[in-house]
Amino acid sequence: MDQADPFGFIGLTYDDVMLLPGHTDVIPSEADTSSRLTRRIEVSTPLLSAAMDTVTESRMAVAMARQGGLGILHRNLSIADQASQVDLVKRSESGMVTDPVTTTADATVAEVDALCGHFRVSGLPVVDQAGVLVGIITNRDMRFVSPFEKATTLVRDVMTKAPLITGRQGIDPDDAIAIFAQHKIEKLPIVDEQGRLTGLITVKDFDKSEKYPFATKDSAGRLRVGAAIGFFGDAWQRATSLLEAGVDVIVVDTANGDSAGVLDIIRRLKRDSAFEAVDIIGGNVATRSGAQALVDAGADAIKVGVGPGSICTTRVVAGVGVPQVTAVYEASLAAKPHGIPVIADGGLQYSGDIAKALVAGADTVMLGSLLAGCDESPGDLVFVNGKQYKNYRGMGSLGALQTRGEKTSYSKDRYFQSDVPSDDKLIAEGIEGQVPYRGPLASVAYQLAGGLRQSMFYTGARTIAELKEKGRFVRITAAGLKESHPHDVQMVVEAPNYRR
Ligand code: 5GP
Repeated sequence: MDQADPFGFIGLTYDDVMLLPGHTDVIPSEADTSSRLTRRIEVSTPLLSAAMDTVTESRMAVAMARQGGLGILHRNLSIADQASQVDLVKRSESGMVTDPVTTTADATVAEVDALCGHFRVSGLPVVDQAGVLVGIITNRDMRFVSPFEKATTLVRDVMTKAPLITGRQGIDPDDAIAIFAQHKIEKLPIVDEQGRLTGLITVKDFDKSEKYPFATKDSAGRLRVGAAIGFFGDAWQRATSLLEAGVDVIVVDTANGDSAGVLDIIRRLKRDSAFEAVDIIGGNVATRSGAQALVDAGADAIKVGVGPGSICTTRVVAGVGVPQVTAVYEASLAAKPHGIPVIADGGLQYSGDIAKALVAGADTVMLGSLLAGCDESPGDLVFVNGKQYKNYRGMGSLGALQTRGEKTSYSKDRYFQSDVPSDDKLIAEGIEGQVPYRGPLASVAYQLAGGLRQSMFYTGARTIAELKEKGRFVRITAAGLKESHPHDVQMVVEAPNYRR
């Protein structure tokens, strides 16, 4: 070690600091929480769900985008499965579906049922071999087919046959709504001059737009979604499949982003014009030089966090990491001059930590444990002593790294252990656990964003940019932290945004 001050600078984390209250004329409901996710993408709520197999699959990604944040689909599944998750999110709602799922007249009702279940839709346009619309089959048409007859009943015998009410390409949304109302229909197939199906507009999508006005959407009105890749083996093929499925953001997701393999794949992705429309996030780093390396490689956002995660053991297994507030601050010193957003990943325990992360230099935060207990996270409820929990595990836990029976692990390269010959030689960097069940994401996200609004009120910040500019920290001691939490009382009722 050759360093003037051998112990370097002090590293601080969320519990070490508080934000100073300041003069305010902002009321919480007026605070604008929109922020930059990547160089080109904005979100109205600065929250991301972690790329973990107990946090983000398509259901969580849909829910996160609807709440104005973004879900990052984990990569501990096959390339085909991960790409199909992207597809599910992209198809979940849109202004117009440009590539609708269809069926043919000689398919069976059972096949239609299966497709509708998979894509969570209530009916399908029916096309011939040339793609010409010949009918539509919806729940209404299938209602009276008994379960025993579904496998033998053909679509042609129950579908509503053409001529149907259709729309021309480029139809105005208001005109589409007028057609829905006039004809009391719920799906409007869009056809070209030759009668070929080119799109589908559904009433449900208009309803959802009204219900989720701040949803994170692409230019075609589809929900946005991100997905994680590694850098090893078939990572390029994974990136290509995700791109084909319509992913908006690719996260090169590793435990040490300041490494040749990670920087190299980011450079390749950024150079390849096929990926032009996709923003690339690189990570994770926890130092200024690490962030600089990702900036130089061309990353569109920098993800920060080595070891802060609730399920993470990197800091004790390897003795490596930087307390998260300092890590975010240091990374932002490299990213800010280039206008590259920073993501504070891991270690947030309460909504108040969001504002602390943003003031330290982040633009968005990524959450694992705070979201793993939601209805939309993968996995069932677990009952322990009559209380409800959901399983939550680190992607570096043995459970996630091991190949068990049919299940292959795809997350070894996150911890640079793809070359480990057998599972008993794996070095885990995470644990497996449980978090309390928290109900639907919508209410959890509401509380988290609500906490952030309160922070903005206390600091007099109308926007996230103002929060970052006006926010000032005070360092606190263990006594200050004790004073911050409820103390000297026996807590009898937990608040929705406070549990111990
Ligand atoms: P949490 O929000 O639960 O505190 O942290 C979630 C973050 O922890 C994830 O987004 C990811 O960056 C990180 N992470 C997930 N699994 C592991 C693991 O097994 N080991 C380590 N070192 N970090 C993990």
